[in-house]
Amino acid sequence: RSVVYWMRMADLRGEVRDNRALARASEKAVQDNVPLIVLFVIVPQDYVAHDRSARRIDFTLRNLRSLKERLKELHIPLVVQTCPKRNNVPLFVTEFCEKHGAKALFANHEYEVDELRRDIKVIQGALPKAMQFSLFHDKCVVEPGVVKTKQDKHYTVFSPYYKNWVATLNRDIQRFLEEAPLPQPNPEHILQSQQFSPLFAVEIPPGLDGFELDEEHSSRMQRIWPEGEKIAAKILEHFLTTKAQASRLGAVHPFDSDAEKTDTHSRAAKYHNERDRTDRDTTSRLSLYLSSGVLSTRECIRAILRFNKATKLDTGNSSGGVRWAQEIAWRDFYTNIMTTFPRVSMGRPYQEKFADVVWEAHQDNNGSEANVDSDILKRWKDGMTGVPIVDAAMRCLNHMGWMHNRARMITAMYLTKDLMIDWRVGERYFMENLIDGDLANNNGGWQWCASTGVDPCPYFRIFNPYSQSTKADPTGDYIRHWVPELAKVNGPEIHNPSTTTANKLGYPLPIIPHNEARARALRRFKNPGES
Ligand code: FAD
Repeated sequence: RSVVYWMRMADLRGEVRDNRALARASEKAVQDNVPLIVLFVIVPQDYVAHDRSARRIDFTLRNLRSLKERLKELHIPLVVQTCPKRNNVPLFVTEFCEKHGAKALFANHEYEVDELRRDIKVIQGALPKAMQFSLFHDKCVVEPGVVKTKQDKHYTVFSPYYKNWVATLNRDIQRFLEEAPLPQPNPEHILQSQQFSPLFAVEIPPGLDGFELDEEHSSRMQRIWPEGEKIAAKILEHFLTTKAQASRLGAVHPFDSDAEKTDTHSRAAKYHNERDRTDRDTTSRLSLYLSSGVLSTRECIRAILRFNKATKLDTGNSSGGVRWAQEIAWRDFYTNIMTTFPRVSMGRPYQEKFADVVWEAHQDNNGSEANVDSDILKRWKDGMTGVPIVDAAMRCLNHMGWMHNRARMITAMYLTKDLMIDWRVGERYFMENLIDGDLANNNGGWQWCASTGVDPCPYFRIFNPYSQSTKADPTGDYIRHWVPELAKVNGPEIHNPSTTTANKLGYPLPIIPHNEARARALRRFKNPGES
């Protein structure tokens, strides 16, 4: 007999604290005096279908390896197995439970449509009647469906959602932030039994076919994005408390000894003023740890409260990381939107009126890119558009698998409005390359920029990439770092090099003049269906 905790790709946590399903599974195992087994199922078909990046798969495997070691100290086996066909997952998990005599299966919710359908299949069909499957809300601070209007409707605009989110959280802060206990060790003698000891020997594959990284790429990812809960906790603490100006752009992590200069305030303390700057290390860079569940969002809020010596989130105080909590709320908001309007995660625009906007290049119903002028799309992907801020951001993504939020907005707006390329094409490219790819956040961000989402940027508010560049990168350091052709350009020209300078330095000329592109976008959004 046993209890099984089914760990999913977004809850790679168990070492430090706060994994709800794991904690409850452990309690149940202790109560029934049976061992706890942790199961992780690799489903390559899912990763292909969901455009998972090789970087994210690599990060997942690295975390599983470190978790396996930690759980072994508690005599808890972490068994990583591969189920080649995604439709077989419910049966695969059920058979695993049956084989190990599990009467109880625990997991945290995954809110994406395919994953919800899979869990329903487990409940309705696969599991034998005598077996109990318990699911927990773990991804968000305030779980989806809780923050609603007075009329019991879901919010589709962020500001009122956020106001109510803070009020809801503050009203019952103990419950929302309650820390899930660490798993209890399995009794040693049980695991020495013939049935369980082989589970410790199951190896985690070194990599997955189709998702390999070459050696240089893999060590770069390890250097920029080290795995593990302790690291994530350290990054969080550093963001909130340390006055050291963080890393050199994109080279190392904030707490690394390479920190260049010191400042009088931590990044969290300056976040409300500086968060839109790409030329400084102004944000936490925790998105990867949050989207893979290595760090819990609840812990982020707890840390802000600890830092401010507060018992509630005081939104009147914009410094001290409280403004940062608003970003965590955006994350809850987009997950809430995805669960409420699942069509957004199935390639549909939230604003159906924009479903017929004519794109220069779009994604057809099979998900392949149709009508794409491959050269133009390739230039965006490669960071060769001739618009320095766009190129810097895209090269940053290609190098480190991450981009600053403002840079994501500028590049997404440029693709959808200046190049008039379907947001779904960009959404996919981001997922395939981001290490922090998260369906709800990525879709929310892309639909915001394409003006098709909930609470979007209105279609007539088209970013001018050059003026965005002067605000996001006032020193030009971000561009100079990522676009070495322009490293010697000083002054305002860095944002929009003249034809002479560009030709001299071997930098491309812009694909299309911004004013011309803007007029085309306005025309097409005003009259969907017409070109
Ligand atoms: P911080 O500024 O330190 O924010 C803290 C945390 O809050 C982030 O780690 C993230 O979890 C959350 N957050 C911040 N901004 C947002 C936002 N606008 N929406 C939702 N959550 C937010 N975020 C992802 O995690 N995965 C994605 O795949 C993703 N794709 C995006 C695509 C586009 C086009 C846009 C415009 C935004 C996208 N975002 C995505 C949101 C945001 O850009 C990143 O979360 C942020 O840049 C991560 O850096 P950070 O951890 O330093 O953020």
